[in-house]
Amino acid sequence: MRVAVVGGGMAGLAAAHELSTGGADVLVLEGSSRIGGKLLLGEVGGLTLDLGAESILARRPEGLDLMHAVGLDDRVVNPRTTDAAIWTHGSLRPMPPTVMGIPASNDLNGIAVVDPHVVDVPDGDVSVAEFVSARLGADVVDRLVEPLLGGVYAGHADQLSLQATAPQIAALGSDLLTAATTARAGATASGPVFAGLVGGVGRLPGAVADGIEVRLDATVREIARMGDAWRLSVGLTTDVESVDVDAVVVAAPAPAAARLLSEAAPDAAFALAAIDYASVAIVTYVFDDGPSFDGSGFLVPPVDGTFIKAATVSSNKWGWVRDTGRTVIRASVGRAGEATLLQTNDTDLTARALADLRSAFGALPEPIDSLVQRWGGGLPQYAVGHLDRIDTIERDIATVSGLEVCGAAYRGVGIPAVIASGWAAARRLLDGTMDA
Ligand SMILES: Cc1cc2nc3c(=O)[nH]c(=O)nc-3n(C[C@H](O)[C@H](O)[C@H](O)COP(=O)(O)OP(=O)(O)OC[C@H]3O[C@@H](n4cnc5c(N)ncnc54)[C@H](O)[C@@H]3O)c2cc1C
Repeated sequence: MRVAVVGGGMAGLAAAHELSTGGADVLVLEGSSRIGGKLLLGEVGGLTLDLGAESILARRPEGLDLMHAVGLDDRVVNPRTTDAAIWTHGSLRPMPPTVMGIPASNDLNGIAVVDPHVVDVPDGDVSVAEFVSARLGADVVDRLVEPLLGGVYAGHADQLSLQATAPQIAALGSDLLTAATTARAGATASGPVFAGLVGGVGRLPGAVADGIEVRLDATVREIARMGDAWRLSVGLTTDVESVDVDAVVVAAPAPAAARLLSEAAPDAAFALAAIDYASVAIVTYVFDDGPSFDGSGFLVPPVDGTFIKAATVSSNKWGWVRDTGRTVIRASVGRAGEATLLQTNDTDLTARALADLRSAFGALPEPIDSLVQRWGGGLPQYAVGHLDRIDTIERDIATVSGLEVCGAAYRGVGIPAVIASGWAAARRLLDGTMDA
């Protein structure tokens, strides 16, 4: 079976790896000039660092399993610290224990005021903000839940789906405060929550793609059914080439997937077109010397009106960065609906983010170097009703043989989740050929 995978991000590469391991003949068609999608290494101040995603959740197996499968075990590391802070009310305050922002302690370090109410859990989906504010008050949403969701989804709690983005909160039930306290008290230490790779998680795409046929600068423009097979139109509009395959995995973000599927799976395409994305930018600074702060970084509640939404002190978080002897800090800017914030040049963005870092940390020297990495359409927004939308997409795709989709638009934006979606897409195709 010859399979084309459209998109060489982590989802597409995971699908390609699984297909290849299962005996398929795989071709990855990547529209840009590099593989990896939101995983990217770049040079700042003479150091090679992650400019996009930089850690993986280790509580799910897929990320670590893939690293193991491609021989990266000896590079897997855990953060030196995961102690985070919230920058609010004018100071950095240690993040109290929470379940996704739901307080699991009465001592919130002055971050938020809790106004507890016991309210039944609704049957249908609601926004995270609606659910939490009814039970704990708006301040907990604004100063704890919102910054955490902003960190993962670059989204807003009043728009994000409870069921799709915070099922852990929904599972706490009607009495959030008591349930979160009990959950944290009963949690047994089960190993580190996060992992990374020495040299950056940006090393993963290359290792996964090793031995797989990849074509770069190969934008797929159209996917057409040809009897039992598929014909893909690939390349520049002025020089389109046809690629014929038995099956296709569309691993491109929702807007591109919607265009590509408009003929083959119109209901799926329609639902995909409704998924919005947030654009973000990461500004990486390399300094000779750092702040006295020794945590992994901080999150900022949007109500505080700062330019940056979070900062990671990579040289505190990762031993391999610390070993360079430099201080490395990443500031992230931009949430859904805040595109105007990013409509400024790199010099201005760098200066404004640095001013925020100085307000939060106190004195910082002039950076040796800095770099702005923009991620236009970086993170899909799982709006209220997202899971129904994904059900519609998956039902429609399931009616078309030899066609699969995967990626961050569907059931999880994190690296392990997109790997899982790539693997599942690959297995459905492999199982389909075995059944046939
Ligand atoms: C700044 C940032 C930081 C993040 N940090 C973390 C983190 O620390 N940990 C974590 O777990 N997750 C993180 N995430 C989320 C995670 O990295 C992404 O959700 C995930 O990598 C997306 O993988 P993907 O394969 O679905 O999509 P993408 O990475 O977007 O890959 C899709 C690929 O498809 C290609 N493509 C698009 N259209 C076409 C076409 N028509 N033809 C051919 N190719 C096409 C694109 O060029 C791209 O390479 C972060 C995301 C961002 C933006």
